[in-house]
Amino acid sequence: MKSTVAIYPGSFDPVTNGHLDLIARGARIFDRLVVAVLQNLDKAPLFSAAERAEMLREVTREWSNVEVDLFDGLLVDYVRRRNAHAILRGIRAISDYEYEFQMALMNRRLEPNVETVFMMPAEKYSYLSSRIVREVAQLGGSIEGLVPPLVVERLKSKVH
Ligand code: ADP
Repeated sequence: MKSTVAIYPGSFDPVTNGHLDLIARGARIFDRLVVAVLQNLDKAPLFSAAERAEMLREVTREWSNVEVDLFDGLLVDYVRRRNAHAILRGIRAISDYEYEFQMALMNRRLEPNVETVFMMPAEKYSYLSSRIVREVAQLGGSIEGLVPPLVVERLKSKVH
């Protein structure tokens, strides 16, 4: 039987409940979901790639078909290496659409055999991004309920 593997790529700096909402949805649809942490970001990340991956592993333990990995370079090369068939991406608001549309079509041009699949999170997470979480945490605001408890703790020790 054919088993469908999807890659969910991102910076996850840090993982939020919006990411987890998408992982839960992806894990229901795909046989295997690989959460792929982008190692080299344009901007210096708050958490190192190893820290971002470690937090993700911790908070995705409950899903036996979810794996966390690190990647670098061209996403389609990584997708090919992993023998995956799909790229999972989240769409929050219209503002995500333009960039995601461009990326999906570029990736299709580079690798026609891989399909990008978009999923929408619960409305309560549709305004949530790692960037806003980092900003609020760095300014001392509460991010309780927006990220897993483990990430609340890690953010506290990182910014103080
Ligand atoms: P961000 O820094 O914007 O949170 P990431 O690079 O970590 O972004 O995001 C990886 C993927 O997860 C992207 O497809 C992004 O659209 C999606 N994503 C991020 N936050 C959410 C959310 N709150 N709900 C649904 N999808 C999300």
